[in-house]
Amino acid sequence: LSAREVINLLKKPAFDEVRLDDRVKAGIRRNFGADLTAAQVVDKIVTAVRAGGDEAVAGFTKLIDGADFSGKSFEVSPAEFTAARKAVDDKVLASIRLAIDNVRRYHTEQLPKSWLTYREHGAILGQNCLPLDRVGIYVPGGTAAYPSSVIMNAVPAVVAGVKEILMAVPPARDGSVNPYVLTAAREAGVTRVFKAGGAQAVAALAFGTETVPKVDKITGPGNIFVTLAKKAVYGYCDIDMLAGPSEILIVADHTANARYIAADLLSQAEHDLLASSILITDSPALAGQVAAEVEAQLAVLPRQEIAAAALTGNGLIIVVRDMAEAIELANASAPEHLEILTADPFQQLPYVRHAGAVFLGPYSPEPLGDYLAGPNHVLPTGGTARFYSVLNVETFMKRTSIIAYTKAALSGVSADVIRLATAEGLEAHANAIRVRGE
Ligand code: NAD
Repeated sequence: LSAREVINLLKKPAFDEVRLDDRVKAGIRRNFGADLTAAQVVDKIVTAVRAGGDEAVAGFTKLIDGADFSGKSFEVSPAEFTAARKAVDDKVLASIRLAIDNVRRYHTEQLPKSWLTYREHGAILGQNCLPLDRVGIYVPGGTAAYPSSVIMNAVPAVVAGVKEILMAVPPARDGSVNPYVLTAAREAGVTRVFKAGGAQAVAALAFGTETVPKVDKITGPGNIFVTLAKKAVYGYCDIDMLAGPSEILIVADHTANARYIAADLLSQAEHDLLASSILITDSPALAGQVAAEVEAQLAVLPRQEIAAAALTGNGLIIVVRDMAEAIELANASAPEHLEILTADPFQQLPYVRHAGAVFLGPYSPEPLGDYLAGPNHVLPTGGTARFYSVLNVETFMKRTSIIAYTKAALSGVSADVIRLATAEGLEAHANAIRVRGE
């Protein structure tokens, strides 16, 4: 194939055009009738929750997730947290704590500094970095439970100094939430947890309901309904990014281990029917070995059906002429996760322009970053690593500028400000300077 044709293969669909699984489509038809798109469903849900509050949230939860909270609160109670803690294996709890600790240490390094500086004639300028007051984190819960996503969203918010961290997670049909997810929330510092998922949860956090206070920002990954809802409420509150199905792209040379590569490709493929797993190599021999290894390892995976569908839809092995071409294609794809498995991966690193996170060498498999290396696992997907950053402490902060001029400093620039204001036709602006010079 030509380079252009390969780049076209690597292109991701826009979020509104994401292919819907047949089961999801059947769900839409059953619940909302006719042939609506995911975007139309989300629009209906967001509008209804904005107008109807708790009752609308509970209505959609019953309709879509099958959990009935009519006449009951959908907030997780202290008793539920206690029961969840009892149900959690102590060794897993220790691993959760280790993950929290590593993620906290890494994100503490990211804390931005507020600063003040002097300018001419005693003027002071500065910048205050402040945490947001209240944020909402979305933790997916449809096809799997993700205590790791709780940690990756909550810990940076805690490090940033956010006082109120609300969390939304879809309930099971019986109204319960996975005990590991609830315990991770407690351990990581989440303030309140609401049992709601999808677009209804995002709308509740964005607009507020009788039970859910309105938040300043919503973060966290989710399926197409969550992502489109975040897009719809952006501006009423802030959002972190628009994230889609998981992706891994591995750049490898002949020195790489085919077993490791196959395992890593499958680790993303098992996430989601739409996940993408790509190998780019300059070694035809390695390409063949990896293809065989993938088949062998896939055959014994519990989530084989999902992984196989993902590989059929978005699995690729690309053989290129050299490493320069491999990195060029990796940049064109702007993957969520980029692994570099070459003789000296640090040699390729300076040429990587677009990737959510980069994993170097044979002992940095992507799942290490998913759980506890320290960096965040909420990453831009769908080629958006060109302009979005990984979730980080500043996601939960904002900057305010500080200006404190003296009389002498102001008179030094008065004529310039008046000239610029007059050029813009803003006389009142100019007057605010003039009256101080009288
Ligand atoms: P989810 O919580 O995102 O979605 C479940 C919700 O979707 C339900 O509560 C329901 O409200 C809504 N929904 C489902 N079908 C619907 C329909 N037909 N009509 C209207 N609403 C509907 O959980 P999920 O579906 O398992 O998706 C999780 C996603 O998050 C996956 O794509 C996974 O790969 C991704 N993920 C990403 C990361 C990351 O950090 N990048 C981490 C964990 C998970």
